[in-house]
Amino acid sequence: MIGKRLSLRARLTLWYGGVTATVLMGFGLFWYWSVRQELYRGLEQSLEQVARTLGVILERTHEQGRQPLRPPRRTRLSLSHEEIFPFARPLRGFIGPLPSDTLVGSESPVWSAVYQYILLNPRSYFIQIADTAGRAIWRSENLLGDSLPVLRNVPVGGVRSVQVALRGGEQRLLVYRTRLAEIAVSYSVQEIEGVLQRLSAVLLGAIPIVLLLSALGGWLLARASLRPVEMMRRTAESITASNLSLRVPEPLTNDELAQLARTLNQMIGRLEASFRQIRQFSADVSHELRTPLTIVMGELELALRSRKSPEEYEAVLSSVLEEVLRLHRIVEALLELARAESGQLRLAQELVDMSTIVKEIAEDMEPLARERGLHIQLQTEGSNPLVGDPLRLRQAVLNVVDNAVKYTPEGGTVLLRVRSEAQVVIVEVVDTGVGIPPEDLPHIFERFYRVEKSRTRASSVDGTGLGLAIARWIVEAHGGRVEVESTVGQGTCVRLWFAQGKGQDGVP
Ligand code: ADP
Repeated sequence: MIGKRLSLRARLTLWYGGVTATVLMGFGLFWYWSVRQELYRGLEQSLEQVARTLGVILERTHEQGRQPLRPPRRTRLSLSHEEIFPFARPLRGFIGPLPSDTLVGSESPVWSAVYQYILLNPRSYFIQIADTAGRAIWRSENLLGDSLPVLRNVPVGGVRSVQVALRGGEQRLLVYRTRLAEIAVSYSVQEIEGVLQRLSAVLLGAIPIVLLLSALGGWLLARASLRPVEMMRRTAESITASNLSLRVPEPLTNDELAQLARTLNQMIGRLEASFRQIRQFSADVSHELRTPLTIVMGELELALRSRKSPEEYEAVLSSVLEEVLRLHRIVEALLELARAESGQLRLAQELVDMSTIVKEIAEDMEPLARERGLHIQLQTEGSNPLVGDPLRLRQAVLNVVDNAVKYTPEGGTVLLRVRSEAQVVIVEVVDTGVGIPPEDLPHIFERFYRVEKSRTRASSVDGTGLGLAIARWIVEAHGGRVEVESTVGQGTCVRLWFAQGKGQDGVP
């Protein structure tokens, strides 16, 4: 919940800081653990080394070989270690036999070897030697009468280590069992724990600093990477319908942000084009509606200015009606296109024969063509069926034929041809008219576009500039397309392709 309310920058910072801190903490824990393992392993190794060396010494120096090991005969070594090693003063009190006078035996070579070894060892290990039955027969003097626990179940030649509490401190105890004795060596873990404590203090002290640094790093990183986004946001915020020429700055990189900026700019470009079209369209509509309205107003004003004969009134009214009809046609056509664009128009799905439709159109246009001194020809073989809306299909072809008749001078020919090809029905309207200049060809399907306004107006009062726009919409709604070929002064060929659709199955 909180995450959603935070800014992206804050979230990135948190993530970056969180991930870094987790990684570092994991690393710290791992480090601490490895150091601890290593220190304890080292300690155990040295404990084992001492124990095994003592084991070897005992074995080698034990005179009676296979006889059980005996404790030293006297409470004190016959030859004091000060006497043997006068330089070893600081280690005084370190060694000593078990204070027992009851034990008998003469093991001096064994014990002196043990003493010598211990004296040479710089560390104050606690050492206890027990016989095979587990009875302690010797303890180092630094134990001060305490005893080390005797571990059972240690196989001969094997070692076992445990942590024990001894005189208020923790000790690492290692027991090595030989054929002759059980040698227990222990050493305080205080040093290791001290090192570990210092290490954890350093780690714990470093974590807040590292956290802070990683959060700062995350914040800077997020800020740097989000700067282009902020710039895009500001530009996008200032874009309105009146300044659609603005573009968001595109980063020089080729990353996701640059792609986003490019996509946004393309979108703004499309919006700009649509707005331009809408503005152009509104201007065209106003212009198209204003002309007939001006004519109507002019005629009516003129009629009202002075008394007129009934014939004159009739003439004015029929002229006004003509303009009103024209207005009506424009408005109807616009409405139709608007409905088509908003997807409100539903096309009927009927089986129709294109040949029949074209034939009917040719017949209907015949009188008008004759009146204009034109010749209409029809070329069609058999039936050319397709599934579609008969009324709209008729309207599409009629608009094209109407143009051919309008823009072909007297004496010309308009040829209507229908044929079927793989899954398509093709209707061609070929005229020998004025033709369309190449630069106008791409635009003739735009609403209100006319090649030459004066030429159009002169040649026909019917022209709305919407005929081809409607024809194209109908053809495309039937899964088809429109093609135009034209040569100025020679004529025009408009080709309508209709997809035959489902109707083909039902066709004989
Ligand atoms: P209009 O109602 O003015 O005929 P259209 O949308 O039907 O509008 O046609 C657009 C323009 O294309 C026409 O104004 C005309 O200049 C040109 N045009 C269309 N058909 C032909 C043709 N067969 N011969 C010459 N020009 C044509």
